[in-house]
Amino acid sequence: MIEMSGAGFIGVTTYSEDSELLLELLGAGRRLADKLGVPLSAVLIGNVIDEEKRKEAIRHGADKVYVVEDPKLEAFGVEPYRAALLGAVRDVSPEVLLIGGTKRGKELAPRVATALETGCMSDCVALDMDSERRLVGRRLTYGGSTIAEVACLKKPQMATIPPKAFEKPAPSERTGEIVSLKVELPESKVKVVERRAKQQATFRIEDAPIVVSCGRGFKKKEDVKLLEELAEVLDAKVSCTRPLAADYHWMQEWVGLSGHKIRPKLYIAAGVSGTIQHVAGIRDAQTIVAINSNEEASIFNIADYGIVGDLYKVIPALTKALKEKLGK
Ligand SMILES: Cc1cc2nc3c(=O)[nH]c(=O)nc-3n(C[C@H](O)[C@H](O)[C@H](O)COP(=O)(O)OP(=O)(O)OC[C@H]3O[C@@H](n4cnc5c(N)ncnc54)[C@H](O)[C@@H]3O)c2cc1C
Repeated sequence: MIEMSGAGFIGVTTYSEDSELLLELLGAGRRLADKLGVPLSAVLIGNVIDEEKRKEAIRHGADKVYVVEDPKLEAFGVEPYRAALLGAVRDVSPEVLLIGGTKRGKELAPRVATALETGCMSDCVALDMDSERRLVGRRLTYGGSTIAEVACLKKPQMATIPPKAFEKPAPSERTGEIVSLKVELPESKVKVVERRAKQQATFRIEDAPIVVSCGRGFKKKEDVKLLEELAEVLDAKVSCTRPLAADYHWMQEWVGLSGHKIRPKLYIAAGVSGTIQHVAGIRDAQTIVAINSNEEASIFNIADYGIVGDLYKVIPALTKALKEKLGK
């Protein structure tokens, strides 16, 4: 049954444990809140929330910041965090709830939606309110080859938002209210016996203005050095297609539908065929350069500049030319 249930839902609320992504959600949320003429809020969850974090949310557009603090929230656990977010949302009763689409956000969002008996539109890359105050989201489907428009039919209207889908708003000196919420948290059914830091890239590929990527056109891991030399000249970060990371384990992370979605100023893809799954992660790059020996490769369909040739010859030549040009 489709039902636009209940009055009493007011405002747009945002939550992400990722501070950068939260600011992007505030950017998206501000536009929706202004259109609806309602306040925008952020939920912060943790053991002790830094004062600066609260102010930062206000500077980036929040009218209210709801803080849920508890020693049980020291480290992420899906049960206490679900209870904390759910408690905050029940208190605030927003018309729209945006959750950062990180791994943790995606664990929380469906659990919160189920508890609230509402739906959740996942991975929305664009959002708007229609004339009936329905949240309408756009999401990539069929491996990024099409865009589906979806709408929420129950409230609170929920969506998860991937990183870099929305611009972080410029900060401004504005005032807002900070509200501490007391939420009853359950005893965890999970006992953490040990925590080990995951080996992670020391940078966020999403933040790199220039990214150079390798694909299966590279014959062996050592050859990636060619791309690293090019990256050094350009002050770029190196990434790859999924098979190089997930199958060959040459790198930890990749770009694409199931990897990072990036929007650098310049993206250079070498030995990358350009499947829809890869393109889904780079479609918002400002300029795409492709190097591929097969002139029929699909990557050329989206590339702004294409170099048909053997990457083992093209990349060293490009690196040399750029070194000379940039005086490096
Ligand atoms: C559910 C799902 C999710 C996926 N998610 C992702 C994702 O997020 N990201 C992703 O990348 N993939 C993803 N994939 C995998 C994707 O479908 C492709 O298999 C992958 O992108 C292909 O990687 P590639 O371009 O490196 O390899 P290939 O498709 O094998 O292409 C290699 C290219 O190198 C060129 N080449 C070969 N030798 C040379 C040379 N000497 N010089 C120049 N060019 C050369 C070839 O012409 C070819 O075009 C996903 C798949 C599935 C099913």
